[in-house]
Amino acid sequence: MSITDRCNFRCTYCMPRKVFKAGFPFLPRSELLTFEEIERVVRAAAALGVQKVRLTGGEPLLRREVERLVAALSAVPGIEVALTTNGALLATKAQALKAARLDRVTVSLDSLDDAVFKGMNDVGVSVSRVLAGIAAAQEAGLTPIKINAVVKRGVNEASVLPLARHFRGTRHVIRFIEFMDVDNTNGWRMDDVVTADELLTQIATEFPLEAIPAAYPGEVASRYRYKDGGGEVGVIASVTRPFCGSCTRARLSADGKLHTCLFASTGHDLRRLLRSGCSSQELKESLAGVWQARDDRYSELRTAGIATSPRVEMSYIGG
Ligand code: SAM
Ligand code: SF4
Repeated sequence: MSITDRCNFRCTYCMPRKVFKAGFPFLPRSELLTFEEIERVVRAAAALGVQKVRLTGGEPLLRREVERLVAALSAVPGIEVALTTNGALLATKAQALKAARLDRVTVSLDSLDDAVFKGMNDVGVSVSRVLAGIAAAQEAGLTPIKINAVVKRGVNEASVLPLARHFRGTRHVIRFIEFMDVDNTNGWRMDDVVTADELLTQIATEFPLEAIPAAYPGEVASRYRYKDGGGEVGVIASVTRPFCGSCTRARLSADGKLHTCLFASTGHDLRRLLRSGCSSQELKESLAGVWQARDDRYSELRTAGIATSPRVEMSYIGG
């Protein structure tokens, strides 16, 4: 669930500054789903068997009183609540998130090199600020933490090994993500994708690896363990190893559009339904109907050389 389309970063691969500049038409507050509306959707989804909700964005920690939303969702029976953040505000929010019973946090960090990281987030936030957020989350007991690093050729391939070294031997698991063509503005080219095979070869030159099974059906990361017992590392290879066939994720944009694929171009308008005074039963039927009719396989089509457009922005639909 994307709970805001706004962000305090301008990552070049996600919200490039030349597009997301002053005056960009972000959603007005009245168009965002309210916390109560989000909770209704989650209760209906839980009744249909959904077990996990991930809050994302944009930057979810920018949403005012996000901990109040976390508390409401974690009180829904059967629901685990996770959150993905760029970490810049995590040091100030970690304790409140834990108190609201957040189950897990994923922190994005693309490099340990300040110049490279500042170049990628494009707002001058330093590595130390994100590491402080990770430390605060650890102290608050939000462990183990997952770390996401997007790798773009010519930008941060040299950051892969230092990141792997840094998180080896901690309880935190770093996952390297292939740069995706998730929207129409990030100038994606296949040449810029550092493939999972390249990433794993690079890591294995220093730390031999072996594949381990997925932790649960539909897990997007392929998992590997360090043969010397230094923990595990993952790769998310939606470009070179598409996993559409086992995908179990529905996505809700900040303004209440339900998308059955990260790369979908249109969504089903749940906000209109919610604001028309629908019953819980109607909401459940609508969710079930959308899900049962899904036939998305964008990444497989991309691999087959067939791409569709236009697609929605990552910051709007969540990563
Ligand atoms: N702002 C939060 C953050 O950065 O963690 C949450 C939203 S962000 C859209 C979620 C995830 O998507 C992040 O880990 C980010 O690195 C990843 N992401 C964004 N654009 C991407 C792209 N073009 N290719 C691959 N991953 C991307
Ligand atoms: Fe913001 Fe996250 Fe996108 Fe970076 S990846 S611009 S932090 S939403």
